[in-house]
Amino acid sequence: MTTTALAYAAPAAAADLVPTTIERRAVGAHDVLIDIKYAGICHSDIHTVRGEWGPQSYPLVPGHEIAGIVTEVGPEVTRHAVGDRVGVGCMVNSCGRCTNCTAGDEQYCLDGMVGTYGVTDRDGTITQGGYSSHIVVTEDFVLGIPEGIELDVAAPLLCAGITTFSPLHRWGAGPGKKVAVVGLGGLGHMAVKIAHAMGAEVTVLSQSLRKQEDGLRLGADHYHATSDEETFTDLAGSFDLIINTVSAPIDVSAHLGLLTVGGTMVNVGAPAEPLPVNAGALIGGRRSFAGSMIGGIAETQQMLDFCAEHGIGAEIEVISADQVNEAYDRVLASDVRYRFVIDTATLS
Ligand code: NAP
Ligand code: ZN
Repeated sequence: MTTTALAYAAPAAAADLVPTTIERRAVGAHDVLIDIKYAGICHSDIHTVRGEWGPQSYPLVPGHEIAGIVTEVGPEVTRHAVGDRVGVGCMVNSCGRCTNCTAGDEQYCLDGMVGTYGVTDRDGTITQGGYSSHIVVTEDFVLGIPEGIELDVAAPLLCAGITTFSPLHRWGAGPGKKVAVVGLGGLGHMAVKIAHAMGAEVTVLSQSLRKQEDGLRLGADHYHATSDEETFTDLAGSFDLIINTVSAPIDVSAHLGLLTVGGTMVNVGAPAEPLPVNAGALIGGRRSFAGSMIGGIAETQQMLDFCAEHGIGAEIEVISADQVNEAYDRVLASDVRYRFVIDTATLS
């Protein structure tokens, strides 16, 4: 039997999101039905529904930071049980057989991972995301939310948490390492908390000093404004690792100058526009400019366990579903502190 879910959907690229209903598929042998409690708002939701990353199929229900409770499982399900606290992030399926899937990098599936919304699923239907009351997901793409993290502050970990944890972990953030985080929004504030918990010395590079007090409270050791040109001379050659979370194009070459010799700047921000780089900014210090997309499923579970162990959740502002459009405007104005989370009980 299918489930009729309440949802909020974008009817077109240039339109406000509106209430609607969608059908969730019947629970298959390996599926889990989740009663969604909270859904985070990621800037990627906005890039996508507004068509900035290319044309979409509408109506489109965004949302890939999902936290809820399992209410039904298929007969073959072994990893989750009714009543479990669970999460779903940016992907809901992959081929499971290619070299990347078998290495735990399902996000780089050679056959194309199935995004949580707006892409064609293996059954030919278009996936619909977490701004909704229910979702059906194959059990391997459902994460366990550890005791000790409330569901509302856990939801943003499923994208903002893993997207920053993965490169911080891969590029060795830890004691003795200097890490800079560019942009203090949803991803940026998670990067600060996680890098601090990993033991790194953390610097925030924000457009202004407006959020300095928050940044220091979240775990940053230093805070500088990128609008101040002296930041780029004072901090030249300082950082082992820079995580760029900015949703718009920035001057990459200027930021590369802040790296040590051999340092790496990892781009997780995903503006649609190109990011030009001066070769000299790379070769002058044997520097690397890298990218990273979310993280694998096992790594996402590792991140959730790490966050539980260190008492890390997102800083959130819980909103009702009818405040989604206003929240989008505030995200676009860099006026988010630091993640909007929809209470799905307010869907109607
Ligand atoms: P967000 O909450 O809007 O944060 C972005 C921050 O960037 C803002 O808070 C602001 O911080 C800074 N910023 C915004 N516009 C800027 C501009 N014109 N110049 C300089 N700084 C600016 O967004 P988010 O949800 O964290 O997402 C950030 C980006 O990561 C988006 O492009 C999103 O699509 C992408 N993303 C990528 C992945 C991945 O797998 N790689 C996953 C999730 C999201 P300050 O006010 O501190 O300057
Ligand atoms: Zn996201």
